[in-house]
Amino acid sequence: MVDFIREQEVVSLLENSNKTDKVEIREIIQKSRLCKGLSLEEVAKLLYIEDKELLAEMFEAAKFVKNKVYGKRVVLFAPLYTSNECTNNCLYCGFRRDNKELHRRTLTLAEIINEAKAIEAQGHKRILLICGEDPRTTNVKHLTQAMEAVYKAGDIRRINIEAAPMKVEEYKELKNAGIGTYVIFQETYNRDVYQKMHPTGLKADYDWRITAIDRAFEAGIDDVGVGALFGLYDYRFEVLGLLMHAQSFEKRYGVGPHTISVPRLRPALGWGLKEIPNEVNDDEFRKIVAIFRLAVPYTGIILSTRERADFRDELLSLGVSQISAGSKTNPGGYKEDDDKADQFEVSDHRSLSKMLETICDQGYIPSFCTACYRRCRTGEAFMEYAKEGEIHEFCQPNAILTFKENLMDYGTESLKNKGEKMISKALLEIEDAKMRILTKEKLKEIEEGKRDIYF
Ligand code: SAM
Ligand code: SF4
Repeated sequence: MVDFIREQEVVSLLENSNKTDKVEIREIIQKSRLCKGLSLEEVAKLLYIEDKELLAEMFEAAKFVKNKVYGKRVVLFAPLYTSNECTNNCLYCGFRRDNKELHRRTLTLAEIINEAKAIEAQGHKRILLICGEDPRTTNVKHLTQAMEAVYKAGDIRRINIEAAPMKVEEYKELKNAGIGTYVIFQETYNRDVYQKMHPTGLKADYDWRITAIDRAFEAGIDDVGVGALFGLYDYRFEVLGLLMHAQSFEKRYGVGPHTISVPRLRPALGWGLKEIPNEVNDDEFRKIVAIFRLAVPYTGIILSTRERADFRDELLSLGVSQISAGSKTNPGGYKEDDDKADQFEVSDHRSLSKMLETICDQGYIPSFCTACYRRCRTGEAFMEYAKEGEIHEFCQPNAILTFKENLMDYGTESLKNKGEKMISKALLEIEDAKMRILTKEKLKEIEEGKRDIYF
């Protein structure tokens, strides 16, 4: 049995943390503003904050850290579901094997390319390939062929993959085909709940899943994303479990997670649950996002369209750094809707263009940047840049350049209006004067039709 998650330790941490006095909480919040992260003990204490004033102070600190590390940038991507065939039976998922109502389908390479083109036509440059787990159809060959075909077919510049655990050799194939980040959610870090939620199939093996990140590292994939499905078990346990997992592989491989996703359980057609077992309300969810921001300042936080539009807008300031937009959760969904083929119900139905306008309205600059990945600033190299604050110097100009490109290629009049103002403002926010001049020069080159000139 793998011991990355010491459940008893998590339970004791939580038991000892629910009566922390205000002075100590304030000290932890103050410390978090140094952007050096927090210990599990400190996180456990923050998880019990209920007092409105303290919550407001913690949210303020999360905003501060988000701003300091990421500036006013939001990275955008879209999921591409290649298949909803699945041999597992995760009770919460619409794709589970026993859901007989689901219209099942695995896209052909031509269909995958069509979906990628439809996503690209919205203006995206970054895709997350997702599928169910069926060794006959959604194996590593399916994924590598899909990746290679999409990279070749158009101008998608980064493909991340969210798929079931694999062997080291298989991860090597993903690496060779050009994977960006490998994403996998443990769903729940509690073994008993995990067993109940995953009664049959390959996914029933908790250890095989939690060791997936290790095998990915061994294969040379050094950008990894983790997550927990909030709503399955006590959210406090999940936050600590996830951070303990992250610490364990950071210790072994020298790199923490590139991203943390915070999916919140949504109703799904034909799921095997009567209700959400441990529903997380909005107040608790805000706390989760803010605490991750403070605990691991250099790890991106990803928020999907599972959340409502107004709530997504609010969470941007609390620490979210990447969002999906214009998403479909059924294979073939960008060409044709089929609500009998969805994984779960999406809440935010805004198009990418509408989302970009909202991001600008909120004073953020949308980023379509994929430069780090293409310039080999991944894994340890990325973390070193990030922790020295240098990444900021690259990211702000790259966000401006890629947003400019997006406006030129896909912008509606109303988006162009807002976007150009935002770009001028963002240019002023580049602290290094030399970098500002260089960025202006590169902006000119983009206007002249030169591409791929990012920092
Ligand atoms: N099938 C692979 C796996 O399970 O690892 C790939 C990812 S699965 C298609 C995507 C993720 O969606 C799951 O890991 C789970 O966390 C999440 N998910 C499943 N059902 C959900 C639901 N009803 N509401 C919200 N998220 C859900
Ligand atoms: Fe299959 Fe993944 Fe859904 Fe589980 S979560 S049923 S493995 S698609």
